[in-house]
Amino acid sequence: MGPPGAGKGTQAKKLVERFGMVHLSSGDILRTERASGSLLGRKLAQYMDAGKLVPDDIVVSVMAKAMTENSGEAGLLLDGFPRTVPQAEALDAQLARAGKPLDAVVVMTAEPDMIVRRITGRRSCPACGRVYHVEFMPPRKAGECDACGGPLVQRSDDAEAVVRDRLATYNRQTAPVVDYYRRRSGLKRIEVDGGRDADDVLAQLTKAFESFGASSR
Ligand SMILES: [Zn+2]
Repeated sequence: MGPPGAGKGTQAKKLVERFGMVHLSSGDILRTERASGSLLGRKLAQYMDAGKLVPDDIVVSVMAKAMTENSGEAGLLLDGFPRTVPQAEALDAQLARAGKPLDAVVVMTAEPDMIVRRITGRRSCPACGRVYHVEFMPPRKAGECDACGGPLVQRSDDAEAVVRDRLATYNRQTAPVVDYYRRRSGLKRIEVDGGRDADDVLAQLTKAFESFGASSR
Protein backbone atom coordinates (compact mmCIF):
# COMPACT_ATOMS: atom_id res chain seq x y z
CA MET A 1 0.00 0.00 0.00
CA GLY A 2 1.10 3.58 -0.52
CA PRO A 3 0.32 6.77 -2.40
CA PRO A 4 0.82 7.06 -6.16
CA GLY A 5 4.50 7.64 -6.94
CA ALA A 6 5.79 5.83 -3.82
CA GLY A 7 7.22 3.10 -6.08
CA LYS A 8 4.74 0.27 -5.37
CA GLY A 9 4.63 -1.08 -8.91
CA THR A 10 8.40 -0.99 -9.39
CA GLN A 11 9.08 -2.81 -6.12
CA ALA A 12 6.25 -5.31 -6.68
CA LYS A 13 7.78 -6.41 -10.00
CA LYS A 14 11.17 -7.00 -8.37
CA LEU A 15 9.69 -8.84 -5.38
CA VAL A 16 7.71 -11.28 -7.52
CA GLU A 17 10.83 -12.03 -9.59
CA ARG A 18 12.62 -12.97 -6.41
CA PHE A 19 9.90 -14.70 -4.41
CA GLY A 20 7.62 -16.06 -7.12
CA MET A 21 4.27 -14.71 -5.95
CA VAL A 22 1.66 -13.71 -8.53
CA HIS A 23 1.55 -9.90 -8.86
CA LEU A 24 -2.06 -8.68 -8.96
CA SER A 25 -2.05 -4.99 -9.83
CA SER A 26 -5.60 -3.64 -9.55
CA GLY A 27 -4.95 -1.09 -12.31
CA ASP A 28 -3.81 -3.79 -14.77
CA ILE A 29 -6.61 -6.17 -13.77
CA LEU A 30 -9.35 -3.55 -14.13
CA ARG A 31 -8.02 -2.55 -17.57
CA THR A 32 -7.83 -6.21 -18.69
CA GLU A 33 -11.34 -6.99 -17.45
CA ARG A 34 -12.63 -3.92 -19.21
CA ALA A 35 -10.94 -4.89 -22.47
CA SER A 36 -12.42 -8.43 -22.25
CA GLY A 37 -15.91 -7.04 -22.92
CA SER A 38 -17.44 -9.19 -20.13
CA LEU A 39 -20.52 -7.98 -18.23
CA LEU A 40 -18.24 -6.73 -15.42
CA GLY A 41 -15.94 -5.17 -18.01
CA ARG A 42 -18.82 -3.24 -19.58
CA LYS A 43 -19.89 -1.95 -16.15
CA LEU A 44 -16.30 -0.87 -15.49
CA ALA A 45 -16.16 0.99 -18.80
CA GLN A 46 -19.23 3.05 -17.88
CA TYR A 47 -17.47 4.45 -14.80
CA MET A 48 -14.00 4.76 -16.29
CA ASP A 49 -15.22 6.55 -19.42
CA ALA A 50 -17.12 9.05 -17.29
CA GLY A 51 -13.99 9.66 -15.20
CA LYS A 52 -15.83 8.38 -12.09
CA LEU A 53 -14.46 6.22 -9.30
CA VAL A 54 -15.42 2.58 -9.78
CA PRO A 55 -17.76 1.49 -6.92
CA ASP A 56 -16.32 -0.82 -4.28
CA ASP A 57 -18.58 -3.79 -5.09
CA ILE A 58 -17.44 -3.85 -8.73
CA VAL A 59 -13.73 -3.53 -7.79
CA VAL A 60 -14.14 -6.33 -5.25
CA SER A 61 -15.87 -8.63 -7.78
CA VAL A 62 -13.15 -8.10 -10.38
CA MET A 63 -10.32 -8.61 -7.86
CA ALA A 64 -12.00 -11.68 -6.30
CA LYS A 65 -12.22 -13.25 -9.76
CA ALA A 66 -8.52 -12.53 -10.45
CA MET A 67 -7.50 -13.91 -7.06
CA THR A 68 -9.43 -17.15 -7.64
CA GLU A 69 -7.90 -17.59 -11.10
CA ASN A 70 -4.33 -16.93 -9.92
CA SER A 71 -3.91 -18.85 -6.68
CA GLY A 72 -0.20 -19.64 -7.01
CA GLU A 73 1.66 -21.79 -4.50
CA ALA A 74 3.92 -18.87 -3.49
CA GLY A 75 0.85 -16.72 -2.88
CA LEU A 76 -0.37 -13.39 -4.17
CA LEU A 77 1.04 -9.89 -3.96
CA LEU A 78 -1.83 -7.39 -4.11
CA ASP A 79 -0.91 -3.96 -5.48
CA GLY A 80 -3.40 -1.09 -5.43
CA PHE A 81 -6.08 -3.12 -3.63
CA PRO A 82 -7.82 -2.74 -1.19
CA ARG A 83 -8.12 0.99 -1.71
CA THR A 84 -11.00 1.74 0.69
CA VAL A 85 -12.08 0.35 4.07
CA PRO A 86 -15.19 -1.37 2.58
CA GLN A 87 -12.87 -3.08 0.04
CA ALA A 88 -10.59 -4.20 2.89
CA GLU A 89 -13.58 -5.66 4.76
CA ALA A 90 -14.79 -7.47 1.64
CA LEU A 91 -11.27 -8.84 1.09
CA ASP A 92 -11.18 -10.14 4.68
CA ALA A 93 -14.51 -11.89 4.19
CA GLN A 94 -13.35 -13.51 0.98
CA LEU A 95 -10.01 -14.64 2.43
CA ALA A 96 -11.81 -16.08 5.46
CA ARG A 97 -14.06 -18.12 3.14
CA ALA A 98 -11.02 -19.36 1.23
CA GLY A 99 -9.18 -20.14 4.49
CA LYS A 100 -6.18 -18.06 3.38
CA PRO A 101 -5.63 -15.10 5.70
CA LEU A 102 -3.44 -12.12 4.86
CA ASP A 103 0.20 -12.76 5.79
CA ALA A 104 1.60 -9.27 5.78
CA VAL A 105 0.98 -5.67 4.84
CA VAL A 106 3.68 -3.53 3.25
CA VAL A 107 3.25 0.23 3.54
CA MET A 108 5.37 2.49 1.34
CA THR A 109 5.41 6.14 2.36
CA ALA A 110 6.67 9.18 0.44
CA GLU A 111 6.59 12.93 0.96
CA PRO A 112 4.01 14.74 -1.19
CA ASP A 113 6.65 17.02 -2.77
CA MET A 114 8.77 14.02 -3.75
CA ILE A 115 5.74 12.33 -5.28
CA VAL A 116 4.84 15.41 -7.29
CA ARG A 117 8.44 15.75 -8.48
CA ARG A 118 8.58 12.09 -9.54
CA ILE A 119 5.25 11.97 -11.33
CA THR A 120 5.11 15.40 -12.99
CA GLY A 121 8.59 14.88 -14.49
CA ARG A 122 7.57 11.77 -16.44
CA ARG A 123 7.57 12.06 -20.22
CA SER A 124 7.01 9.41 -22.84
CA CYS A 125 7.31 8.96 -26.56
CA PRO A 126 3.95 8.04 -28.12
CA ALA A 127 5.75 6.74 -31.25
CA CYS A 128 7.99 4.11 -29.61
CA GLY A 129 6.84 3.92 -25.99
CA ARG A 130 10.14 4.98 -24.35
CA VAL A 131 9.77 6.61 -20.95
CA TYR A 132 11.90 9.48 -19.61
CA HIS A 133 12.04 11.81 -16.62
CA VAL A 134 13.02 15.45 -17.08
CA GLU A 135 15.15 15.37 -13.91
CA PHE A 136 16.10 11.74 -13.22
CA MET A 137 16.35 10.29 -16.75
CA PRO A 138 16.37 13.15 -19.25
CA PRO A 139 16.59 12.62 -23.01
CA ARG A 140 19.77 13.89 -24.70
CA LYS A 141 17.80 16.75 -26.27
CA ALA A 142 14.96 18.26 -24.22
CA GLY A 143 11.51 17.18 -25.44
CA GLU A 144 12.86 14.73 -28.04
CA CYS A 145 13.03 10.94 -27.95
CA ASP A 146 16.61 9.55 -28.02
CA ALA A 147 15.50 6.45 -29.91
CA CYS A 148 13.28 7.85 -32.65
CA GLY A 149 13.44 11.66 -32.42
CA GLY A 150 9.68 11.92 -31.81
CA PRO A 151 8.22 14.62 -29.54
CA LEU A 152 7.85 13.64 -25.85
CA VAL A 153 4.53 14.13 -24.08
CA GLN A 154 3.23 14.19 -20.52
CA ARG A 155 0.20 11.99 -19.69
CA SER A 156 -2.78 14.10 -18.59
CA ASP A 157 -2.87 12.00 -15.37
CA ASP A 158 0.63 13.20 -14.52
CA ALA A 159 -0.12 16.96 -14.51
CA GLU A 160 0.51 18.57 -11.11
CA ALA A 161 -3.14 19.44 -10.33
CA VAL A 162 -4.20 15.86 -11.13
CA VAL A 163 -1.39 14.38 -9.01
CA ARG A 164 -2.36 16.62 -6.03
CA ASP A 165 -5.94 15.47 -6.49
CA ARG A 166 -4.89 11.78 -6.58
CA LEU A 167 -2.91 12.35 -3.37
CA ALA A 168 -5.92 13.93 -1.68
CA THR A 169 -8.05 10.95 -2.71
CA TYR A 170 -5.42 8.60 -1.30
CA ASN A 171 -5.34 10.46 2.03
CA ARG A 172 -9.13 10.48 2.27
CA GLN A 173 -9.90 6.91 1.12
CA THR A 174 -6.81 4.74 1.45
CA ALA A 175 -4.90 6.11 4.44
CA PRO A 176 -7.76 4.79 6.68
CA VAL A 177 -7.08 1.29 5.27
CA VAL A 178 -3.49 1.53 6.57
CA ASP A 179 -4.93 2.35 10.02
CA TYR A 180 -7.41 -0.52 9.66
CA TYR A 181 -4.46 -2.93 9.26
CA ARG A 182 -2.35 -1.18 11.93
CA ARG A 183 -5.02 -1.89 14.52
CA ARG A 184 -5.01 -5.61 13.79
CA SER A 185 -2.90 -7.77 16.06
CA GLY A 186 -0.99 -10.70 14.64
CA LEU A 187 -0.67 -9.22 11.14
CA LYS A 188 2.92 -8.79 10.00
CA ARG A 189 3.66 -5.26 8.88
CA ILE A 190 6.51 -3.28 7.44
CA GLU A 191 6.67 0.40 6.59
CA VAL A 192 9.39 1.69 4.27
CA ASP A 193 10.30 5.14 3.01
CA GLY A 194 9.57 4.89 -0.71
CA GLY A 195 11.31 8.23 -1.26
CA ARG A 196 14.69 6.54 -0.79
CA ASP A 197 16.82 4.99 -3.50
CA ALA A 198 14.94 2.09 -5.18
CA ASP A 199 17.77 -0.41 -4.52
CA ASP A 200 17.82 0.46 -0.80
CA VAL A 201 14.05 0.05 -0.61
CA LEU A 202 14.27 -3.32 -2.37
CA ALA A 203 16.97 -4.52 0.04
CA GLN A 204 14.82 -3.53 3.00
CA LEU A 205 11.72 -5.21 1.57
CA THR A 206 13.63 -8.39 0.66
CA LYS A 207 14.86 -8.70 4.23
CA ALA A 208 11.35 -8.19 5.57
CA PHE A 209 9.84 -10.77 3.17
CA GLU A 210 12.46 -13.31 4.26
CA SER A 211 11.60 -12.63 7.90
CA PHE A 212 7.90 -13.15 6.98
CA GLY A 213 8.84 -16.64 5.77
CA ALA A 214 8.92 -16.05 1.99
CA SER A 215 11.61 -18.08 0.24
CA SER A 216 13.62 -16.97 -2.78
CA ARG A 217 13.31 -18.88 -6.03
ZN1 LIG B 1 10.53 7.36 -29.50
